Amino acid sequence: MNDWKNQTWFGRDVAAGTYLNTELEITESYSGRNITIPIRVIRGAEPGATLFVTGALHGDELNGTGAIRSLISDPQWGPARGNLIMIPVLNVLGFERHSRYLPDRRDLNRCFPGHAGGSMATRMARVIFDSIVSRCDYGIDLHTAAVRRTNYPNARADFNEPECLRLATAFGAGVILDNRGPKGSFRREATTAGCPTIVVEGGEVWKVEPSVLECMSRGIVNVLKELDMLDGDPEVPENQVKLRTTKWVRAERGGFMEMHVSPGSTVVAGQPLATNSSLIQEDHNRLEAPFDGIVIGMTTLPAVQPGEPVIHLGRLSSSKTVRRVRRQSQADDIQRTTQEHLSTNIQVTPPGESRS
Ligand SMILES: [Zn+2]
Repeated sequence: MNDWKNQTWFGRDVAAGTYLNTELEITESYSGRNITIPIRVIRGAEPGATLFVTGALHGDELNGTGAIRSLISDPQWGPARGNLIMIPVLNVLGFERHSRYLPDRRDLNRCFPGHAGGSMATRMARVIFDSIVSRCDYGIDLHTAAVRRTNYPNARADFNEPECLRLATAFGAGVILDNRGPKGSFRREATTAGCPTIVVEGGEVWKVEPSVLECMSRGIVNVLKELDMLDGDPEVPENQVKLRTTKWVRAERGGFMEMHVSPGSTVVAGQPLATNSSLIQEDHNRLEAPFDGIVIGMTTLPAVQPGEPVIHLGRLSSSKTVRRVRRQSQADDIQRTTQEHLSTNIQVTPPGESRS
C-alpha cells in the first residue's frame, strides 16, 4: 500500500508519523553474506516532499555521517510533513576499510545511475538509484575534502537547475558553488533523473569535526524548512557568496609550505597565500592570490612538489565583495567558529617580508 498513511519502504510497512530502522541489500561479500546499508526512514504525520540525505558515499568522508547520526540520535526528531530518508553511510564497503573507494578500487561516485548487468560498483549504484533516488523528490549528499586536504563548508549545485539552486541557497552554507558534478556522480545523475540533489563539502576525511557537523546539521534542518517539511524559515547568512569560478593555486617549487591563509579566509589579488622553502629555510618561493577570492579548500600536508595543489580559491567579483564576505562570515556564529576550528589544524604564519 502506498497511500500516505501506510507506505512500504525497503519491503517494510511504515505508518505516517512513525520511523523505521532498516537495511537495504546492496551486494554480497566474498564469503557470500549479504552486504546492507543501514537506513532510517522517518515519516511525517502529514503529506509532503520526500528527501534523502546521504553520508560517506566516499567511505572515508565522515563529517556527514556525524551530522546525520547527531540528528537521528533523538528518536522524536523528524519532519512534520513528508518523508526523510537518512543514510549515514552509503558506501559501506569503502567505510569498512576507511577508504574512499570500493574494494575493486572504483569510485562509486562515478558509477551512477548504474547498470544491473555491469561491474560490482555499477550494480550497487543501480540498486541505490532504483530503491532510493527513484522514490525521492530531493537529495542532499554530504562529503569532505579528499585525503590530505580540508574544505571550508560549501554547497555545490547546478545553478541552471532552479530547484538545486534553491536547496543550495536554503542549506545556508556561507559559500555556494555552481558545479553540476562530474559525469556519473550521484548528484548530477540524480538531478538528471528528476531528483534535484546538491552536494555539501566540509572538513577532512576520517574525522567528525564538531563545527562542520554543526554547519551540516543546520543545513539539513534548513532544507527541511525550505521544503515545508518542518515549520519555520531557513537560517541563511546574509550576503551568502555565490561562486562560479574556482582555481587551485599550485606549488611552483618543491619544499616545505608555510600557509598564510586558512579555510574561509578572504584574500585580495596579489595577497600572499603561502611560502615554501627548503627544509633548511633556503630558496623561498611565495604563492600569491591570482584574483580576489575566498579559500574554499587547501592542502593539510605542508610538503609539496611543483604542480601540487595548495590552495583552492573561489573567485569574488571585487575587493569590495571581499570585505562584504569577511563581515558576513564573522557575523554568523557557525561560520566564524568553523573558520577558527579549521585554522587550528594548519600552521598559519604571517607572510613577513618577501624573501624570494
Ligand atoms: Zn567525497
